[in-house]
Amino acid sequence: MSQPECLFCTLVAEGEHMREADGFVAVADINPKAPVHLLVLPERHVDSFREVGEFPVEEAKRMLEFVAETAREAGLDDYRVIVNVGPGAGQTVFHLHWHVLGGGGGLRGFE
Ligand code: AMP
Ligand code: ZN
Repeated sequence: MSQPECLFCTLVAEGEHMREADGFVAVADINPKAPVHLLVLPERHVDSFREVGEFPVEEAKRMLEFVAETAREAGLDDYRVIVNVGPGAGQTVFHLHWHVLGGGGGLRGFE
C-alpha cells in the first residue's frame, strides 16, 4: 500500500503529525502559503485526486470529515481547501493531499 520512494508515505509513517486518526494525518506544510497551512494525507497511497475512486466510500467520507475537523481544530472558521491535480495544476508530490489554508493575512500563491 505504501510506496517506498514516496515522500508523503514517509511523512505518514514517521513525520511529525499535528493530528492523526482513522488512516489520515495532518502535518504543517514546510513552505506555508498562509498563516495556517496544513496538509491532510491519507495513509493509503494514491498518486492524485484523480484516483479518489480507489477509496472505499466510507473511507472517502471520513477523509472529507478529517479535513473539516483539522481546520476546526486549527481554530479556522473560514479557510480554503485546495487539491492540485497533476503537474500542470501545481502538484509536486504525487501522493494525494489536501491543502488547508487560512488564518487571514492573504493566501499567497493560490489566487
Ligand atoms: P503540491 O504542490 O500540491 O503537490 O503540494 C506539495 C506541498 O508539500 C507543498 O506545499 C510543499 O511545501 C509541501 N511539502 C514538501 N515537502 C514537505 C515536507 N517534508 N513536509 C511538509 N510539507 C512538505
Ligand atoms: Zn505515498
